Amino acid sequence: MLRSSFEGSLPNEACGSGRLAAISFLCFVLLASACSPEGDDPGPAEGPVREIIHIVGNLYEARDPAHNTVFLVTSDGVILGDPMGVESAQWIKEEIAERFDAAVEYVIYSHHHPEHSTGGNVFADTATFIAHENTIAALNAPFPSNAGQMDLDGDGRIERADATAPGYGGAFDRYDRNGDGYMTGEEITADTPRPDIVYSDQMSISLGGSRVDLIHPGPGHTEDMTVLLFPEERTIFGADIYHVRRFGVSLNGYRVEAYERAINKLQEFDFDTVVAGHGDIIGEKADLALFLGFLQALDVGVTEGIAEGRTLEDLLVSLSFPEYENWLRYEDRRVTLITEAYELSTNQ
Ligand SMILES: [Zn+2]
Repeated sequence: MLRSSFEGSLPNEACGSGRLAAISFLCFVLLASACSPEGDDPGPAEGPVREIIHIVGNLYEARDPAHNTVFLVTSDGVILGDPMGVESAQWIKEEIAERFDAAVEYVIYSHHHPEHSTGGNVFADTATFIAHENTIAALNAPFPSNAGQMDLDGDGRIERADATAPGYGGAFDRYDRNGDGYMTGEEITADTPRPDIVYSDQMSISLGGSRVDLIHPGPGHTEDMTVLLFPEERTIFGADIYHVRRFGVSLNGYRVEAYERAINKLQEFDFDTVVAGHGDIIGEKADLALFLGFLQALDVGVTEGIAEGRTLEDLLVSLSFPEYENWLRYEDRRVTLITEAYELSTNQ
């Protein structure tokens, strides 16, 4: 596992290599201060912190301060996962041209949420865009599925003060393209080419003698999830349907059973390495079971608490998950996830 190069300063540099091995407590402390939550944007003064990490063979991970994607270099061009926004897409395009003298032939969206899917227009001169069939409707909906709740008066526009969901507040000026003080769904997805090719359950793409399999794990986080499996590299990439030793910001409205079904489906495939759309750890297959184990503990804790007649306030005090407290963002996400699981279980 080599970090082949980076630009800007890397506050987590001390963690060095050996990312597949367990990370020390020191690293957790350093990572905790370096890691942004989903969609958080780097302050303009900090400048970009981006890096390309060699995973295995011709497969690489590209990271920006809050997101990850992967790309596979072949003799006939590059297969890329998410573009991660216009600026990151431009950076990825330049890195790929410089390092490999290659262009992106395919862009494969993990799902439609804009922090992952925008920026594809940067590759529109060379790329074919692929996604799950539900991505089309999700991109053409009034808002992405993690944004609509911010349109409080239902007029199809979100004003700055209401742009509080993760990933939107810091990106408001970028999404409000006409500068009228509101962001619309159309503005948010303006840099996201609609897919040229869609699939329903599974498909394969071959390029230059290499292959990627696209797997729809079913509903969970969104309705349009794609997990990329690189069979020769024995690696998967997925964003938000699972995390590697960290917590998602929310369940995004899906019960734990949905994640359970999706992750169990992924477990049936043959791979060793797990790359996630957020976080600083490249994981192993066992990390999927660890993540699911946390979600199940959350579900059991909340369900039993409700059966005992406990209130949400009670549970927020009494329910803890000591096995997972070394994961990133334990305390604040313990609170948001218990709250959401409670609301989903009581249909609030
Ligand atoms: Zn998402």
